[in-house]
Amino acid sequence: MKDTDLYSRILGLAAPWFVDAVKLNTVEGRVDIHVEHGSGVRWACPVCGRELSCRDHAEPRVWRHLDTCQFKTFLHARIPRVDCPEHGVLQVNVPWAESKGRFTLLMERLIIDVLTECATLTGARRIMRITWDEAWGVMERAVRRGRERKQSTPSRYLGVDEKAFRKGHDYVTVVCDLVDSTVEYVADERKTESLEGYYLQFTKDQLARIKAVAMDMWEPYFKATLKHVPGAVGKIVHDRFHIMKHVSEAVDRVRKQEHRELMGQEDHRLRGTKYLWLYREENLPDKHRPTLEVLKASNLKVAKAWAMKESLNDVWKYLSMGWARRFVKRWLIWVNKSGLAPMRKVGGLIQRHLENILTFCRHRITNGVAEGLNSKIMAIKRKACGYRNRDHFKTAIYFFCGGLDLYPVSS
Ligand SMILES: [Zn+2]
Repeated sequence: MKDTDLYSRILGLAAPWFVDAVKLNTVEGRVDIHVEHGSGVRWACPVCGRELSCRDHAEPRVWRHLDTCQFKTFLHARIPRVDCPEHGVLQVNVPWAESKGRFTLLMERLIIDVLTECATLTGARRIMRITWDEAWGVMERAVRRGRERKQSTPSRYLGVDEKAFRKGHDYVTVVCDLVDSTVEYVADERKTESLEGYYLQFTKDQLARIKAVAMDMWEPYFKATLKHVPGAVGKIVHDRFHIMKHVSEAVDRVRKQEHRELMGQEDHRLRGTKYLWLYREENLPDKHRPTLEVLKASNLKVAKAWAMKESLNDVWKYLSMGWARRFVKRWLIWVNKSGLAPMRKVGGLIQRHLENILTFCRHRITNGVAEGLNSKIMAIKRKACGYRNRDHFKTAIYFFCGGLDLYPVSS
């Protein structure tokens, strides 16, 4: 078989396209494939499909293809242009690449696979021997494609969370599908408008199909959801992990204050106990158990605060909102009488948001999935040595966590 025929077959080229010449350059380690087409061919207008004759050719172009053994391989061709009475002068579609791609479809697919597997740009671009910008181009095109193809309906169960982008106060808002564990939407900042951007894509009827939305007790997200989602009052569920985190932080503040007071009296009992109080009791490593037992039996303020935190965990077991409400009311009385300022403060927070904490009884959703995705996002960010700006970061989140159909298809 001639090398031109071999490459025609490898590339899967069909008439009118054929490989005209193959040039091997062993010094530079590259293979150049020149593709031509037969004459007198009728070409389809890329917009309307009307069959037209070739008007002229665009500038010769080069596409990077899959390596031939370890040789970089390039495909060269001149693309015919047609003059459509309706759409004007346009380049026709070619079967091996997307209209503006710099890679053949197969190469682009492989880059996407390698990027997905490596989860790092640096790794993928080294393996594929492409530049950083080329890798970014593939990623951005893939995300654009995937998002265009995605059906525009809201998820039934949503999780909304913020994600710190850089140190300081640069945030993005991440909307997740809690059933599919995918990121549906990423917006700048964590304002009301950030989340509104997601809801505004849909009609009222579509939004009415949302069954529940899990979120932290963060006013802007609450407001946006209330404004756009029909029946939101009964659908917003303040996420239990976030709530317990607020309570744990209050326990920690109690510990810090008390530790300072005790140190003033040369009492070192609380030294090195920070994490002891933050574990849920059932998750506490055995080696810490004896210390905790001794401290629990003491009259320490932090021991009291800890007992309040542990007790609140039981609220998630209730299936009836009425019983859960009664439980929390009793808990709040205990907290308010305790005289522990940080606990009273977090108690106030819980009281203000109580109705949308209790909705958990009905919907039983948490942002647990979203938290998992968040750690994935952090890992991606670390491995890729940081993305140079927020848009890149957002693109990467969609690429790795969006559950999108990323591949190019021939036209
Ligand atoms: Zn046309």
